[in-house]
Amino acid sequence: MLIFKEFNIRTPEREILIDISNEVSKIVRSANISNGICHIFIPHTTAGITINENADPSVTKDIITYLNKLIPQGGSLGYRFRHGEGNSDAHIKSSLVGTSLSIFIHEKRLMLGTWQGIYFSEFDGPRNRKVYVQIQGE
Ligand code: ZN
Repeated sequence: MLIFKEFNIRTPEREILIDISNEVSKIVRSANISNGICHIFIPHTTAGITINENADPSVTKDIITYLNKLIPQGGSLGYRFRHGEGNSDAHIKSSLVGTSLSIFIHEKRLMLGTWQGIYFSEFDGPRNRKVYVQIQGE
């Protein structure tokens, strides 16, 4: 069986990691698949999707802050961004973080670790964003 769903999120800041684990888990539960795989894909070039710690909110703040130290909006390392939109940093962060994830489904449950959450990673908000979820299994 193959099930496709999508949902929208509104990101409130230029850079923010938003926990979408509940939305994805809900889709997995409603798919009623015992064993399979959940693919998550976002159709954006200035955002990403990643899995990281969901217990201490300082972790997502550290990720955003450190990415900004490495890749500031105006560029660094003596290089001036050529892309005219002023969001080259967000394009680079999107490629580093990635735009898709695959998570196993076992006995109807998404096999995330105890401390793992799925984070939509906004790097050029606020914007309206889409998340695609495709579930394969039986
Ligand atoms: Zn751009």
